[in-house]
Amino acid sequence: MQKTEFNFLDKSVSCYFDADFSLIQQLAVGRQIFIITDDNLIKLYPALFKPFSLFSITPGESSKVQAIVDRILQSLIEMEADRNVMIVGVGGGVVTDIAGYIASVYKRGVSLALVPTTLLGMVDAALGGKNGVNAGIYKNIIGTIYQPQFILYDYSFLSSLPINEWINGFAEVIKHACIRDKLMFEMLERYSLHDFQTDLTLAASIIEQNVHLKMDIATSDEFDTDVRLLLNFGHTIGHALENLHDLSHGNAISIGMVAACNLSEIISKLHLDEAVRVVKLLSRYHLPVDIETDVEKVYEILKMDKKREGDDIRFILLNGIGKPEVRPISIAFLHENLKSIL
Ligand code: NAD
Repeated sequence: MQKTEFNFLDKSVSCYFDADFSLIQQLAVGRQIFIITDDNLIKLYPALFKPFSLFSITPGESSKVQAIVDRILQSLIEMEADRNVMIVGVGGGVVTDIAGYIASVYKRGVSLALVPTTLLGMVDAALGGKNGVNAGIYKNIIGTIYQPQFILYDYSFLSSLPINEWINGFAEVIKHACIRDKLMFEMLERYSLHDFQTDLTLAASIIEQNVHLKMDIATSDEFDTDVRLLLNFGHTIGHALENLHDLSHGNAISIGMVAACNLSEIISKLHLDEAVRVVKLLSRYHLPVDIETDVEKVYEILKMDKKREGDDIRFILLNGIGKPEVRPISIAFLHENLKSIL
């Protein structure tokens, strides 16, 4: 087990890597623990949850709504949880987003710990303090930024992770490599999804690199005004496609990253060779790189993007692998070029 501290403005977050889930009890000593998890994890790991008070949600994005949050808050009230309670989110990004939100609002903020159990949760969702729920088609529109006290990495959870969830997680890993880390990009080019799935030490190494990368960005811009925008690479068009088609988040942002590379070739300094390398890497990790879509519908959704300012959308482009740039792009220019970049 190895502990690393990351310092946010008014809180320090400890990451316990290669730890055992049972460490929770030691770390939360003197506190009442309240676990939030989902039904798949309860089925897979029944013994793990026995000692704790808990609330289990139905797995999936449809649970990320205020009504579920209200039911969990009601449970906390009914069990008379006081300010000494520690909320522990054990699960993928849906669970950790809900747990973070609940911890930030119950009694105006109680202690929070996260145990991400999906690759996406480990490399992305559990990190940086963003949390929240969806409202209709508006993803993550309600929520707060609230840092956990600690994040515990028990890699044994990965042994039960379905292949599609590995693929989903690799979309964010590749995104991180594209925006910040050419060496990691090259490492990913040397290995395959199968290598990481079958070698937990290798998986741990890529996960820890990604934690450092995301935490470096999140600690330097906790409230999302500047460098943190880079984490949106592939997400602008990706989110539009995710809304429009029945795509997983990983698949949607994969196609979004290809579109952002195509746009970078047109208006930025990305060479064709490097754009091709990104496309090849995404395919290597079983991610889709194109889609049949209705560009007019994509455009209608893009117009509502939260990164829109007046007639422009702030787009994350690449000047090369590991060399991102935030560029305002006019809605009209996007409209004209959408067909050629998608
Ligand atoms: P998820 O939480 O829905 O988990 C995916 C599936 O994997 C679920 O069915 C879950 O039950 C199952 N699962 C979880 N752990 C498992 C394990 N160890 N073995 C077997 N099955 C397991 O999805 P996700 O991809 O982890 O997260 C997606 C969510 O994360 C989205 O809601 C997204 O908005 C959010 N997110 C948040 C941030 C952030 O900064 N807060 C960043 C990225 C994504």
